[in-house]
Amino acid sequence: MKQRRFKRLVSMVLTFALFCGMIGEMRTETEACATAFWAGTNGYDNRDLRFRISNSAFVPVIAPASSNFNHVLDTFSNGGWNSITSRVRITNVSTNASGANTVVVIGENMPPVAGWLTFGEIRPYDRLGRPAALASDWSDVDIVMNNGLANWRLICNNDAQRTRVFENAFRHEVGHVLKLVHPGCSTIAVMHQGIPAALPGGSSFVGEKLQAHDSTNLQVKWG
Ligand SMILES: [Zn+2]
Ligand SMILES: [Zn+2]
Repeated sequence: MKQRRFKRLVSMVLTFALFCGMIGEMRTETEACATAFWAGTNGYDNRDLRFRISNSAFVPVIAPASSNFNHVLDTFSNGGWNSITSRVRITNVSTNASGANTVVVIGENMPPVAGWLTFGEIRPYDRLGRPAALASDWSDVDIVMNNGLANWRLICNNDAQRTRVFENAFRHEVGHVLKLVHPGCSTIAVMHQGIPAALPGGSSFVGEKLQAHDSTNLQVKWG
C-alpha cells in the first residue's frame, strides 16, 4: 500500500522539493509553454557551464560520478543538453570541475514528507548568498540530489531502473539550472516531474532524456 501511494504521488515530488525549499515554483505552473522558463539570468556564462558533482551526491543510490552523468553533455539527440543552441554548452561534468561557471552538485538524505519524495532540487541564491526568487537574476545555483537509498527504494527496488530515474532527475535539475520550468501542457518533456513514462510507476508526460519540447523551450529562453 505504501509503495502504491508513493507511485501515485511521485509525479509531484520535484515541485514539492522546490515548494518546500521556500521557492514559489508553483506559480509558474500555469505559464504557457512558449514561455516555459523563469525570467532572469542564472549567474553563469552558459557557453562554458561545468558541474562539479560530489560522489556523495548519488552514492549509494547509484554508481559514483566517474561512471555516470556525462550524458548531460552528450548531444541533444542522445539526451544531453548540448547541441541545442550555441548559447548553452556544458563543458565539464566531473568531480573536479572548476571555474567561474561551476554549478556545485551535492547530496542530502531527504526522506519523504507526507508521502512526497524529493528526487532532487535546485537552490538559487542572490549576490548576498540569500535564497533567490526563481524568476529573478541569480548569482549562483546549486543542485541537491536525494542520496538516501532507503528513500529511493520506496519507489524502485530495481537497481537498473532506479539508475535511470535518478539520472533523468539529474537531467531535469540541470534544466532548472538553465531556468526551465515544469511545462503546463501534456507534451512529453524531461521537464515534467516524476518517473519516465517507459518505467514502472511512470507518468505519461515524463520524457526519459530530452525531448523536442525541452529543446524548444531552451532555445526560446537563451536564443
Ligand atoms: Zn522540477
Ligand atoms: Zn508545452
